[in-house]
Amino acid sequence: RIVYVNGTYLPEAEATVSVFDRGFLMADGVYEVTSVLDGKLIDFDGHAARLTRSLAELDMTPPMARDELLAVHRELVARNAITDGMIYLQITRGNPGDRSFTFPDPETTPCTVVMFTQSKPGLADDPAAKAGIRVISIPDQRWGRRDIKTVQLLYPSMGKMAALAAGVDDAWFVEDGKVTEGTSNNAYIVKNRKIITRELSSDILHGITRAAVLRFAAEAQMEVEERSFTIDEAKGADEAFITSASAFVTPVVEVDGAAVGDGKPGQVATRLREIYLEESRKAAI
Ligand code: PMP
Repeated sequence: RIVYVNGTYLPEAEATVSVFDRGFLMADGVYEVTSVLDGKLIDFDGHAARLTRSLAELDMTPPMARDELLAVHRELVARNAITDGMIYLQITRGNPGDRSFTFPDPETTPCTVVMFTQSKPGLADDPAAKAGIRVISIPDQRWGRRDIKTVQLLYPSMGKMAALAAGVDDAWFVEDGKVTEGTSNNAYIVKNRKIITRELSSDILHGITRAAVLRFAAEAQMEVEERSFTIDEAKGADEAFITSASAFVTPVVEVDGAAVGDGKPGQVATRLREIYLEESRKAAI
């Protein structure tokens, strides 16, 4: 695999980052994951816009403009012959050397920029989307700025491990009795054909797929309510699903051991997945 590090394309075994990098020492960095279908980027501009916002929230200087970012994404797709898969992008605050709690001067310390591809043939035909996934609920013990897409993914990783240990696919985080989101996705329920998902705030990541799906739902005259919901409500819902750049729209068929609806992927989730894939492929660049 050919990866990108700070302006250079090179084989992954030759790619290196300083041991003093604040991404490594302090999880001081942000990331994005953009899907590739048929060799084209899905929702690129949404991811680029969120990246700009994440950097601004952390007082980091964007290392490159949108067009250059797009060019690197495309170059990686071409060099690695990616048809279906993902582009991972990470920007950390770098470090001139030695460990310190204070940020280095951005004028003299450039960010570290790393990008690489993950090939996933048949990404849009994941069997999980046909069967639906099962989730458990766990307490949300992440920090309070979940709207910034930082590389601090230890707690979400622990959540995913807890889910696998419980024999299911993923975990939904719960805070003050309400679902915030999944370990790496936004969470939804459907009741009487109304789509319900938590409103945007610093409690959740502002999913790029979420924004697109809610727009398509509105265009298809589906009813949407942005509010938080409980696990009991999810258990009594007609359907549930998640969204993310790599899972698109994936039905959830079980929550904490209880079947959601008839325990099969629901009509609304299935339809939204079709619309999302169709429209995003059309708009892909
Ligand atoms: N919430 C969290 C916590 C996530 O990690 C992700 C995926 N990165 C999402 C939601 C979904 O965001 P997106 O649709 O932009 O992939």
